[in-house]
Amino acid sequence: MSESDNNTPGSLHPDTLAVRAGQERSAQMEHSEALYPTSSFVFRDAAEAAARFAGESPGNIYSRFTNPTVRMFEKRLAALEGGEACVGTASGMSAVLATCMALLGQGDHIVAAHGLFGTTTQLFDNHLSRFGIEVDYVHVTDLAAWRKAVRPGRTRMLFLETPTNPLTEVADIASLAQIAAESEALLVVDNCFCTPALQQPLALGADLVIHSATKYLDGQGRCVGGAIVGNQALVGEQVYGFLRSAGPSMSPFNAWVFLKGLETLSLRMQAHCRAAMTLAQWLVQQPGVEKVHYPGLESHPQHALAARQQRDFGGIVSFELAGGKAAAWRMIDSLALFSITANLGDTKSTVTHPATTTHGRLSEQARQEAGIVPGMVRLSVGLEDVRDLQDDLARGLAAV
Ligand SMILES: *Cc1c(COP(=O)(O)O)cnc(C)c1O
Repeated sequence: MSESDNNTPGSLHPDTLAVRAGQERSAQMEHSEALYPTSSFVFRDAAEAAARFAGESPGNIYSRFTNPTVRMFEKRLAALEGGEACVGTASGMSAVLATCMALLGQGDHIVAAHGLFGTTTQLFDNHLSRFGIEVDYVHVTDLAAWRKAVRPGRTRMLFLETPTNPLTEVADIASLAQIAAESEALLVVDNCFCTPALQQPLALGADLVIHSATKYLDGQGRCVGGAIVGNQALVGEQVYGFLRSAGPSMSPFNAWVFLKGLETLSLRMQAHCRAAMTLAQWLVQQPGVEKVHYPGLESHPQHALAARQQRDFGGIVSFELAGGKAAAWRMIDSLALFSITANLGDTKSTVTHPATTTHGRLSEQARQEAGIVPGMVRLSVGLEDVRDLQDDLARGLAAV
């Protein structure tokens, strides 16, 4: 690791890294990380400019390439995920795009999980497909299906999220890493729902971790951003190389917000998990609620795997109402505290109807295959007092 990490030896624990890793103090000796809102950097003379551009002397040139605030965020997130290199991006989707554009070529094949974040599926099916990249979808928990879908010599990437949205199904990362290694494909894990506070895919054998920093890394619903973490060759060189040419770079301001978000990530995740568990256990007992999806429940099909692979069970809970779409909409419209909004991972609790919003663009068949029934409601449990959230849900259920 580089010179600026000398204040963060590898032996430090994650909560210390979240607060301390990656900081580079300026000559002003600021205590809190500095924000550098500048598009370019000045050279002492023409020779220094030439050396920078030639790559012969290290340092900043232009903020599409590097920016000190963005670099501090990247180093901190790399430390938390246990990766050698990290690059920040303008959004979670540009992290997915940059990964695919940097590491795939015409004729390559991806095996991905059904029910990925809707826009990721759109990107694969409507855009990457135009460049000769093919995608096959399998059920995220079906290891035999993953193995069978791999095309020897053509499959370059296995792509998944775990837990999934909104069903909270849990993928076996270590087993999938083995399948990926056997087929010389890269295992890419979108770690948005767990964050490094709960799960470190790289330690389980994944090659790359993708983040929508928009969600829990910010944690307060302010900025859109993303990141990719992995080894130096894949991320520090290939993905970074694409990014500096293509341009979806992270803004310094957003990086600063995410940097401060990382400092409280672990504490926030603990609180999100605790409240989500309380609400999941309560929802199970409510009449009219047919099914609750939460990995922390012993009834969850991958409860044991989640307990092994994750530090806790996350802040996302979904459930199915007996009355279908009408009941789901009536319940959602009767809530006073939960915000009806597309974001998740916010201090404010949010509620969505997946079948008509996040997964509304899927075909009826794809939605059925993904198990997203019309009566499903998804909660992102925030940091309000859980008693108030429970009262709000009780009000919603009573209206159905
Ligand atoms: C939101 C989200 C994305 C996309 O991130 P943006 O920051 O909105 O571009 C990707 N994956 C998952 C799992 C998400 O929830």
